[in-house]
Amino acid sequence: MSTILQTDYETEAEREQKYRAARGLMLKNLPSEPELPFWLLHVLNLWLPHRQVCDGHSTPLQYFCDRYYERERDTVLWAARLWGKSMNSGLECWMKARDPRRPYWQANICAGSGAQAAKVYEATDRFWTVTDDIGGRVVLKRDPLKSITEFLDGSKYEITPASTTAQRGPHPNALYADEIDEISRDVFNAALNQAMERYGHKPSTALLSTMHKVGGLMGEWVDNAEGRGYKLYTSCVLETLEACTGDYNCETCNLEPYCERKLKPIFEEEEKWQLEGGIISSGEKPHIGFNTIDTIRQKVRQGYEREEGTGRVKVLDVESELFSRRPSRTGLVFPDFKDNFHVVPAQEINIQPEWKKARTTDFGFSAPFVDLYFAITPRDQIIFYYEMVQTAMTMPDIIEHLREGRRHTEFLISFGDPAGATEIDTIRKAGIPMKSVVSEIQEGIKMITHLLRQNVDGRPQFIISSACPIFIEEMTKLSYPENGLSEKPVKKDDHCIEAARRGVVAWLRGMIEPLSTLLKGVTVVKDTHRIPTETDETYEREKRSALKVRKGRGGRDRNRERPRGVSDHL
Ligand SMILES: [Zn+2]
Repeated sequence: MSTILQTDYETEAEREQKYRAARGLMLKNLPSEPELPFWLLHVLNLWLPHRQVCDGHSTPLQYFCDRYYERERDTVLWAARLWGKSMNSGLECWMKARDPRRPYWQANICAGSGAQAAKVYEATDRFWTVTDDIGGRVVLKRDPLKSITEFLDGSKYEITPASTTAQRGPHPNALYADEIDEISRDVFNAALNQAMERYGHKPSTALLSTMHKVGGLMGEWVDNAEGRGYKLYTSCVLETLEACTGDYNCETCNLEPYCERKLKPIFEEEEKWQLEGGIISSGEKPHIGFNTIDTIRQKVRQGYEREEGTGRVKVLDVESELFSRRPSRTGLVFPDFKDNFHVVPAQEINIQPEWKKARTTDFGFSAPFVDLYFAITPRDQIIFYYEMVQTAMTMPDIIEHLREGRRHTEFLISFGDPAGATEIDTIRKAGIPMKSVVSEIQEGIKMITHLLRQNVDGRPQFIISSACPIFIEEMTKLSYPENGLSEKPVKKDDHCIEAARRGVVAWLRGMIEPLSTLLKGVTVVKDTHRIPTETDETYEREKRSALKVRKGRGGRDRNRERPRGVSDHL
């Protein structure tokens, strides 16, 4: 222990005193397993949920205890977003590193991203803050840094970035790899196996992640955990949910398909248990989970969330990211698309002047050029109501087509293909406002899938007009490769979907802005067209050319009729 006595910023007596106090505090207070939940509650004001909701799922307390009391050393935790993975790992490090029975215990927390690293730091920082008054920091060698926390007895935990250089160095007793689905294989391989036996501490490796990739690291580790000598834990957001008291009704709750009405009785049982055990007094809210029902219900409804700090919108794969169900990428890309529900006869669609509208395109020459018109209803339904799909369109043809279409002066914007930067530039120079939307194909697919599963009082949220037969056909046919290992669909007859997914993502990101703000800095050719009437010649001409286009590609001949009356569907 001589190194402990060699710090240079205190007298030996002071150090000795602090260390004794720390030891005393910890030795007196480090909890046995039955005491642990109450110790956490009283010392850290923290309750680790311990009630299982789904079959086969573990609870945060069970996972923590198995690791903290070292019944399991190598583990894989497949848990939802918002489950508290970083907090759980941070707590384990905080408790183990400060334990005087474990001098020189060292841990490395490899964080999938900078944001992930910040989360772990914030979790542990909270433990220091809440224990400040009771001498929590007396075990510290110096104040915790974002990267490293060092203890008087030689223990430490480090939070390191997911880079190969950062992961080749350390040889801790324990490795925590946080969000491994976000870590590249190179970095992961550099990090794995770095845990080693030192100072009498056995090596331990904790892998934690949600699973949202097909053929990704997490999928591979969940499949092979047992064979590799790791214990697998699965848990979802339901295991961390607060009690559904008050107005929540299973009949109308959008979590019901996941919770299967199990949460309410579990909560009642827990409340009774806590009252009888004197953990709470009557009238007090029982300690359950830390995720509020409202937050989770809203995420399930929206299918996206805003990142804290950046405000960036991120699409959520609700099934896999919140409920730890395996993401599937086999067969059809849109099995939820039902043409007797999502397709509405063109004559029943009456686009209102005040609705937000936009066009979205996909460029091609030998592959077809696609132009889709869509509108957003006040109830947040998205309606695709016109398609133009044609091969061998030259740039002047495209510009003429786009300009023609702008007779609808309320058309706001066209969303281009980011790969077509040159085309977009040419189009903008011709005075047509066009933005490019940079988005991963998976993001758009997840969002469309989410919209297909939603309804607005029994009506679809995602609607395609029968005037878009090619788009409809693509939706029913697009498939994943047969090996089931790819995140990306087979690249075949997907041009309308390519355009549509960018439109959906643009809508989600709030990019559908009024024309006037978009046109800043662009020279505009004055638009003299007016909104067409039944007898408008321009309209008739375009209708004829649109029909010609469809005949030219598959011989379909569906009249794009003028809308009559507002549909039941909208
Ligand atoms: Zn669960």
